[in-house]
Amino acid sequence: MLEAVQTLAPEIYPFVHSVYSSESTLLWGDKSIQSSEGVQQGDPLGPLLFCLAIHHYGTQLSSEFCVMYLDDITLGGSPEAVQHDLEIIESMEDIGLSLNNQKSEIICNDPTTRGTILVSLPGARVVDPLEACLLGSPLGNEDSVSVALKVKLAALEVMGSRLEHIPAHDAILLLRNSFAIPKLLYTLRTSPSFLSPVLNSFDETLRLIVGRITNIRFTVGDPAWTQATLPIKQGGLGIRSAVQLAPSAFLASAAASSELIQNILPARLQSQPIPSYDSALCIWSQDLDHPPPSGPAACIQKNWDACKVEKTADSLLENAPDDVARARLLAVSARGSGAWLQALPISSVGLRMDDNTIRIAVGLRLGSTLCRPHICQHCGAEVDHLASHGLSCKRSEGRHHRHSAINDIIHRALSSARIPSRLEPSGLHRSDGKRPDGVTMVPWKCGKPLVWDATCPDTFASSYRALSTSCAGAVAAAAEERKLAKYANLDQGHSFTPVAIETLGVIGPKSLVFIRDLGHRIQQRTGEVRSLMYLLQRLSVAIQRGNSASVMGSIGASSA
Ligand SMILES: [Zn+2]
Repeated sequence: MLEAVQTLAPEIYPFVHSVYSSESTLLWGDKSIQSSEGVQQGDPLGPLLFCLAIHHYGTQLSSEFCVMYLDDITLGGSPEAVQHDLEIIESMEDIGLSLNNQKSEIICNDPTTRGTILVSLPGARVVDPLEACLLGSPLGNEDSVSVALKVKLAALEVMGSRLEHIPAHDAILLLRNSFAIPKLLYTLRTSPSFLSPVLNSFDETLRLIVGRITNIRFTVGDPAWTQATLPIKQGGLGIRSAVQLAPSAFLASAAASSELIQNILPARLQSQPIPSYDSALCIWSQDLDHPPPSGPAACIQKNWDACKVEKTADSLLENAPDDVARARLLAVSARGSGAWLQALPISSVGLRMDDNTIRIAVGLRLGSTLCRPHICQHCGAEVDHLASHGLSCKRSEGRHHRHSAINDIIHRALSSARIPSRLEPSGLHRSDGKRPDGVTMVPWKCGKPLVWDATCPDTFASSYRALSTSCAGAVAAAAEERKLAKYANLDQGHSFTPVAIETLGVIGPKSLVFIRDLGHRIQQRTGEVRSLMYLLQRLSVAIQRGNSASVMGSIGASSA
C-alpha cells in the first residue's frame, strides 16, 4: 500500500508513511493487539488507500466494460476477456484480497457463456438480466423496475404500520425526512421508475399512511392530498408524490451523470442515447409549456421539479372552489407559514405538538374536514366542517393563549439576546389607552427602547376576505398598519414594532424585520447559527397550538 501511495499520490506519502509504516497498537481493556494489515477501521483515508493499493490490478483489466467501485467490481465483455480479468482479480491474493465467489453474480442469459464463466467462478449466483441489480439499482426492463419498487413499497407499508404507534409529530417528520421519498429517491434517480405502475401504489400507500398519522381523511383525487404532496415552501406537507417526482429525478440524474457514463461505456456505445430518456422527457413535459432545463441547470433535480410543483400549485389555486380556499392556498404558500412543519419535536424548547394540534394544523393548512358542523359554544355562530370559526371567535379563549404565547416567546428571545424586557409595562399607552404587550428595558436601536405589540389576525376571517384573497400576507400587513396607527403618538424616546402573524402562519413584513433582527442578535450572543430558525419555529408552533385550542373551544372541548 505504501508503495502505491508513493507512486500514485506522493503528496500524501509522508503523512501515510508516518501512520502506517509500523504496526499500530490497538487497546482492548487491559490487552493490546498489534495491527499490521490493511487500513484502520474508520480512517477517513481508508477508501482512498484501498483504491490506490488495487489500482495496479485495475489497470490490467481488459474487459470492454469495467467498473470498479472500491471492492465492488463489475466486468462485461467476451467470456475470454472476463475470464482473463478474473485471473487478475484472483491474483490480488498477493496483497491479501480474495474474491468471494458466493457474493459474486453472473448476469447472463446465454447458457453456454454462463457455463464457461461458472468454471472460473464456481459457486457464483446466476442472475437473469431482467432481475439484475447493480449497486442497488435495477438493470432490466419495466418489470424489473417494478420488482425493485415492490420491495420499497413493502418496506413503506411496514414502516407506516409502525409510525401509527408513535406521536403524530414524530411520525410525520420521520415519514417525510426518512421513510417515504428519501428511501425511494436513489431508485427514482437511477432507473426508469416512472414507467412502473407500482409508483401509483406507492403514492396511494403514502396517502393512507398520512391519513392514519394525522387522523384526517384524504380521498382519492382529493385536492387536499394533492396540496399535501407539494413541498412545504409551496404550501404542502413536503411528503412528495413519487409519480410526480420520478421523471424529474431521472432526468436530472441522467444529465448529471452523462459525462461519467461516457467515460465508463465502451467507445461503440458512447453515442447511444440513455435508455428511457425520451420517455422521461415526454412524461415530464405533459401539461407543461415550459422548456426543459438545459446546460448545468439540467443536472439539478430541483430545476426539473420546480416546474411541476409550480404547475400543480397554480392549478390548485385556479380551481379553488371559493374565496376561503383561495385565501388559504395563498397564505400557506407564503414564506415561513410552514415553519411548524420543520420543527423537531423537542419538548424542552417548546417545539413539540400533540396529536390534536398536528391534526388541526394539517387540516387548516389543507382545508380538510376537521369536525362535524356545529354551533359555537362561545358565541352561538354556525361552525362548518372546516372549523375555522374558532380562530377568530371574539370569545375564544384560544386566541388569548395564542397572543400571550407569542409575547412570552419574544420576551424569552430578548432575554436570550441579553436584552431584558417587561411584558405589559405601565406608563406607556397607545391611542385607546391600553398598554402595549412589551418593552425592552435597555435601548434596542439609536438609544431608544423598543415597544412591541403582538396580534394574530385570522387569515380566514370574513372581514379580511378582500385582503386574504388578494395576496399572501396582506392580512398581516394590514394588521401591522393598524398597530402603527395606534402607536402614532407614542413617546418619541421609544421606537415601536408591530408583531403580526396570521393564523395560517404568515408573518407581516415589518414583524419579520424585527424577528430576523432578534434572531441574529441571539446568534451573536450564543453562537447558535440556527437561532432565527428556532425562533420562527417556536412562534409558528405557538400559533398552531393556539389554533388547536380555538378550534376545540368552539366545540366545547379543551385541546389539551
Ligand atoms: Zn364563536
